[in-house]
Amino acid sequence: MPLIETEALILRSYNLAEADKIVVFITRNEGVVRGVAKGAKRLKSRFGSGLEPFSKVKIEYFLKESSELVTIQRVELTSSSFTAASDPEFLRRFSYLSELLVLFSPPHDPNEKLYRMVNACIDAAAGDSANLDGIVLYFEIWLLRLSGFLQDWSTCGACLRTFDDADQAYLAADLSLICKGCCPGSHRDLMDARNRHLAASARRLSPRDFAQATVGLGDRIGYLSEIMKRSLSRAAGKDISAERSLAIKFM
Ligand SMILES: [Zn+2]
Repeated sequence: MPLIETEALILRSYNLAEADKIVVFITRNEGVVRGVAKGAKRLKSRFGSGLEPFSKVKIEYFLKESSELVTIQRVELTSSSFTAASDPEFLRRFSYLSELLVLFSPPHDPNEKLYRMVNACIDAAAGDSANLDGIVLYFEIWLLRLSGFLQDWSTCGACLRTFDDADQAYLAADLSLICKGCCPGSHRDLMDARNRHLAASARRLSPRDFAQATVGLGDRIGYLSEIMKRSLSRAAGKDISAERSLAIKFM
């Protein structure tokens, strides 16, 4: 049974047996992993508070040949998000983002860029919880991008013409943008130049800078976030538009 040691972010945990928990975490080197933490429910558990959601830890676990579920050996807390995670709004938003992350990440599939993006979003939200909507939108855009679903939104997906600021564009079923000339008629998901620039700026900025740059743009952020949720739903093949309906069983 090989022992793996890596940095990780705890996403969530479930009660398993009398004293044990299942813990879902994203690692820097091994992608999303599910593991059993034996005795984690006991008051004096050897894991301490290292299994609280959104903690940053160093984690050691054994891989099992016969199961996707690993056995967690040791957890060392390097940074907690206890203060932020005590805010119900932070908890609700990041629980949704965690579930998205698990939905879009095949188990044990390393993606360091994704790991760093999630890490930076947690830091940005913990440091300044004033614009959680902006951070959620940032996360949604990047998850689509890193999962390979985000198209080039600077040109029309049908005629390949580069959009200028006067162009109205619409989201197509394959998540490309189509110019008005290529799709006459009425469409729901309008992406005007300001929306396109806003989505493009998430690709350039850190989550903290994006959140600061989008303060006061609540309606636009909400509209774009709805479009991203529909895009994520199409990419995942399931409806994730209602954040609370995203109840995924990990076991
Ligand atoms: Zn076109």
